[in-house]
Parts: sequence; C-alpha cells; structure tokens
Amino acid sequence: MSVEILINTSPSETRVALIEQGLLQQIYIERNNRRGPVGNIYLGKVVRVMPGMQAAFVEIGLEKAGFVHAADIMVRGPDGFELVPQPGGTIESLLREGQMLVVQVAKEPIASKGARLTTFLSVASRYLVCMPHNRHLGISQRIENEPERERLLAALSSAVTAEGVLDQSGFILRTAAEGVSDIELQSDIRFLRRVWSAVQQRIEECKAAGKIRIIYDDLVLYVRAMRDLLTPQVERIRIDDARVYDEVVRFASDFIPEIADRIELYQGERPLFDVFGIEDEIQKALARTVKLKSGGNLVVDQNEAMTTIDVNTGAFLGSHNQEETIYKTNVEAAKAIARQLKVRNIGGIIIIDFIDMQDEEHKRQVLRTLQKALEKDPARTRISPMSELGLVEMTRKRTRESLRQMLCQECHVCQGRGSIKTAETVCYDIFREIMRVARNYENRGLLVIASQGVVDRLLDEESATVVDLEQLTGKRISVKVEAFYVNEQFDVVIS
Ligand SMILES: [Zn+2]
Repeated sequence: MSVEILINTSPSETRVALIEQGLLQQIYIERNNRRGPVGNIYLGKVVRVMPGMQAAFVEIGLEKAGFVHAADIMVRGPDGFELVPQPGGTIESLLREGQMLVVQVAKEPIASKGARLTTFLSVASRYLVCMPHNRHLGISQRIENEPERERLLAALSSAVTAEGVLDQSGFILRTAAEGVSDIELQSDIRFLRRVWSAVQQRIEECKAAGKIRIIYDDLVLYVRAMRDLLTPQVERIRIDDARVYDEVVRFASDFIPEIADRIELYQGERPLFDVFGIEDEIQKALARTVKLKSGGNLVVDQNEAMTTIDVNTGAFLGSHNQEETIYKTNVEAAKAIARQLKVRNIGGIIIIDFIDMQDEEHKRQVLRTLQKALEKDPARTRISPMSELGLVEMTRKRTRESLRQMLCQECHVCQGRGSIKTAETVCYDIFREIMRVARNYENRGLLVIASQGVVDRLLDEESATVVDLEQLTGKRISVKVEAFYVNEQFDVVIS
C-alpha cells in the first residue's frame, strides 16, 4: 500500500499529513505561537541563587528565566548510578551563580512565572519515556485496565532485557502504549537509545561552546511526526521547506538512517497540499455532511458529550433490491466513518446510526467492516454490538484536540446550536415584546430595531399584524434595520 507523509511549513504553522492510497488519513497541525517548551533540554546559566526559596533562576534563552528547586537537582546516588536528589542539599551548596547547567523544562511557563526546570533528564518516544541513570520500570496511571497494566509491564521488562538495556535506563509506559506489542516496545527502546546518545553528544558540544543553547527540542512537529508516523510502509516523505528538509534529513540520518533516501524536497509551483488535495480534505473534515460515492451521506454532529453520526441513503430507493442498496451504503459509510474519525481526530463517545437493515448477516458484515477499518487507527477504539435500533456505540481515545477544536470557534450567530430561529419566530417574539413594553410605558410610539430579514418580514408578511398591534396598543410602531444584528437580535424601544 502506498503511504506518504507530506510536511507543509509556513512561518506561523506546520502541517503534517499522512496519506494512504492518495487519501488523507491523519492531519497534524501545529501553530508556532502555541508551542510550549515542555520536554526541551537546554544548556542554561544559573543567574540567581535564592537560599530563602531553596531555588535558583536559570537563564535558558526563553523570555523569562526558568527556576529550579533544590529537590530537582540530581546527583549520583549511593550506588554510583542512579540519580537522586542530594539528601539535605541546600540550593547554595548545589549551585553557584554563573554556573552552566543542563536542564529540562518540566512545566510550562505560566503568566508571570518562568518555566519550572529539572536536572532529571528524560526523553520520550511514542510509547515510552526513557530515564537514563535510573532503573525504574513504570506505567502511566491513566492506563486503568489491570490485566493490560500487567501485560504491558511484563512486555516492557522482556523488551528491556532483549535490547540489553536492563539496569541501564528506566522506562515508563505512556498512556499511548495501551495495546502495543513487545516488538513495538523494542523498536521504541532502540529509538530512545539513539536519541539519548545524540543528546549526550550535543550536551558535550554545547558545554564546550559554553553558551546558553537548546540541546533537544521535543516538540517540533515534524520531528514528532517522524517519530510517531514513520512505519516501514512509508514510501515517501515530501517537505516543501528547505530548512525543515535539512533538519528532517539530519534527524533521519541520526535516528532512522534506513529512510533517508525516501525524503524529498518538494519544489513544485503549486502548493504541496493543493497538489495532493489535502486543503480540500481539511475543508471536508470540518463540514457537517460527508458525501458518499453511493449517493448517500454521513451527517456528523460533534457535541460536547458525544459525537453522533447519521448514515443516510441519497438517491430514491425503488422497492427492488432496497436491502442490497442499503447494505452497500452502510458498508461504504463504515469505511468512511473510520477515516473521518481519524482525520477529524474525534475522541470520546461516538454513536453511529446506520440505515436500518433486515438481514442479520448484513448487520454483522457492516459491523465487521467498521471494526476492520478501525484496526489501523492509532487511537484506541472500542465498539459495541449493533443495538436493536441499528445503533452502534463506540469510544475512541481522546488524544490531541480535535481538528475542529483546533481550527474553529463557536459560531456567534447560533452560539454553537447549529440552527437559529426563523424570521417568523423572531417576529412573534417581537410582538410579545411590543405588548410588554406598551403596557409599561405611556409614550406614543415604539421603534423596533432588528436584522434586515426580520424587518423585511415585518413590513411584508406580518404587516397586517403590525397594524392590528398599533390599534390594540394605541401606539405607532416603526421599524429600523440594524445591519450588525444577526437574525435573533432585536430591540423594542420607546420613541
Ligand atoms: Zn451557527
């Protein structure tokens, strides 16, 4: 199967698309202004030691100096290998001003505070966090299933032994590790060892230069994408920016030399994402309705509590072969749903309403198609059997923000409801408001201020009612358009 990774870079945004057989499967978007430094390793300089707070400020080249607590400064423990906090170590005994110090960002800088730093370094891969100078094997608390926790810890322990890193590094299984195999863990361990040796080499280089420097950048999207999306099936990686291309080539030659010859600098006239139809796919992934080839469609409603997906047949269904048409539409829908969930990155509870089928075998096949299509999803999914009403409940693990959360804001016209009152309904709201206001004020006239559509209706279809209301209230009613008002907004004021 043809799998490609496309990397598109602009000054403010990086986008990575994974495509299979020409179809977008996953999209990662990162905006530079939202990138935090957590996980980055720096060679910093101690600028102030504060015995009163048992902490020190360390300049690392960010806007504000970061700070490190005495308890987060690691020294070799009694066994000469494991790193531990110095027992009873005071900040003034551990650090002095002007000293260069290798630190990692543990917590994002917030508001007035600088980043919280630690000297206990770790590097992360897709499934693991590696802690050099430690022997601990652990697992994320967020993996809750007890048998799975036990399986994973056993798998980690055998992978660590197989890779010959037992007693050399500690590892923690990340939440994403749920369901992965020993082989995958082994390949992650190999990757982390290469990363760690590169980090060590760079630490020596930076120390020799003696300047504040970033040593390891954990969060650059294209690096993470290489780490998370690269599989042996990836045939080509196209990058449209020469600087990023150079960095990815360097990264690949350090860590994944076998793929170096598959990386290509895209220099075509047309934008990379246009050529591969990715821009269109992103637009489609934000739409409520997804068209199916069979003429049917999906209607996707992402709500806070859950996402519902409604499958509809498109064309007129004759009585002949109706069940067959429905079955084919449902099968196509099952595949499309699996892809849409990945592209949109929808997590949480998902309820799918397939078109009603009579045939039990057809129901089984549709469910089987969905299960099979979801097998390739990197996020963990669970599917329930089809209910009597033809509903399939499923869950998909939430990872990053969904595409819509990332790119969209709530619609200010409908406040996210997705529908607004009709002009007719708004007119009737206005009539009730006129009665209320008329009762409370003595003056002669009332002025209705509303949107163009509502005013048009007041002057046309509802004009007779307006005349009736004038007689009933004894007040002259005039109208005025407010161009900035959306449909539901209006005012009834005395004039
Ligand atoms: Zn709206």
